[in-house]
Amino acid sequence: MELMDNTYKIQGIDVLDITKKYDTPLYVYDGEKIKSQYERLYNAFNVEDLKLHYACKALSNINILKLMKSLGAGLDAVSISEVKMGLKAGFEPEDIIYTPNCVSVGELEAAVKLGVKMNIDDIEALEYMGMNHPQIPLCIRINPHLMAGGNENISVGHIDSKFGISIHQLPLILRIVKTLNIKIEGVHMHTGSDILDVEVFNMAADILFQVADNFEDITYIDFGSGFKVKYKSNDYETPIESFGKSFSKKFNDYCKKRGKTIRLMFEPGKFLVSESGHFFVRTNLIKQTTSTIFAGVDSGFNHLLRPMFYEAHHEIVNVSNPNGNERIYTIVGYICETDTFGYNRRLSEVKENDILCFKNAGAYCFMMSSNYNSRKRPAEVLIYNGKDYLIRERESFEDLLRNQVEQEISF
Ligand SMILES: *Cc1c(COP(=O)(O)O)cnc(C)c1O
Repeated sequence: MELMDNTYKIQGIDVLDITKKYDTPLYVYDGEKIKSQYERLYNAFNVEDLKLHYACKALSNINILKLMKSLGAGLDAVSISEVKMGLKAGFEPEDIIYTPNCVSVGELEAAVKLGVKMNIDDIEALEYMGMNHPQIPLCIRINPHLMAGGNENISVGHIDSKFGISIHQLPLILRIVKTLNIKIEGVHMHTGSDILDVEVFNMAADILFQVADNFEDITYIDFGSGFKVKYKSNDYETPIESFGKSFSKKFNDYCKKRGKTIRLMFEPGKFLVSESGHFFVRTNLIKQTTSTIFAGVDSGFNHLLRPMFYEAHHEIVNVSNPNGNERIYTIVGYICETDTFGYNRRLSEVKENDILCFKNAGAYCFMMSSNYNSRKRPAEVLIYNGKDYLIRERESFEDLLRNQVEQEISF
């Protein structure tokens, strides 16, 4: 979104026209930004075989999946429904890697039937697959126990983490693989989101290469994700170009050592879609208390949970008044619980009915929305090639009742 001729625009379209057309609250995604982030990441590496699997839990609208497919991405799916969504969007089964955690055998079986790549997260599942589907090649998710990720909730590699098979269990993995004659085609790790130091990837690579050394049939090594984008102007951002350059060298050296081309894989979610997203809300009320000026908006943590759940910072812009005098506001939602989007923010003077925009609203934003307080979830719009497309309808009152069963119970 950029300020041009006193109006905020996405791909040349006035954002106020969009909110007028589709109403608020509204998620709007800039497809060109997704494309440029994909290309930026892809071009950062210089290896013979690279595949980026989009971690679709970040934003799984089917149109976004189709856009990713058109760019050449594969898919990282963490649930059987994400697998099905990917297939529906046209991904080939072999371009989907299924990375479940603590799922039932029934869900593993369903994924096997759909023919996607299986990324195994625990010893029991490894044994199960080896006993019941010895012909299916597997990927193993290793937990290298590197402390990484911006926040306890999104750091998944530490010693107490539930994710992956501990690197310390490698002897057990090898015993099972050998005894059951399992073909291991890939090794994987994902240590968390918002990794603040790319050194983590280098350390993890040394560990994963050692693991991969044990497997003759290895065809890919998947380093997960955790690439960080800026949420504030002075934030750290993964220096993707310099990282790509040094990491490619490391990876190419390993391929040379093994005497074959191995596919380098990553699974970015946030890096690809975070900055594409804009969440637009309307100001219902300016409420001045003794100490604070509140701007109350037509949304809450039912639509955007990250500020409350992760203490995430999302920049907020008053797009209705681009050049007004700044005042200090605390922006809150309409949920009957504390749902503060931002404390003490300097915004261009806000009046009732002004439209505010939350930035970085592409990853883990709509996806974490709920119907709490019996509120409807927002619509979603994708802007692509200078055109706006409605990609999800706003929910209706009927949607709130859709799966409820009104029984004839004599209360
Ligand atoms: C969530 C997740 C990702 C994506 O992480 P980002 O920080 O959004 O890039 C990648 N791989 C796996 C297995 C995940 O669970």
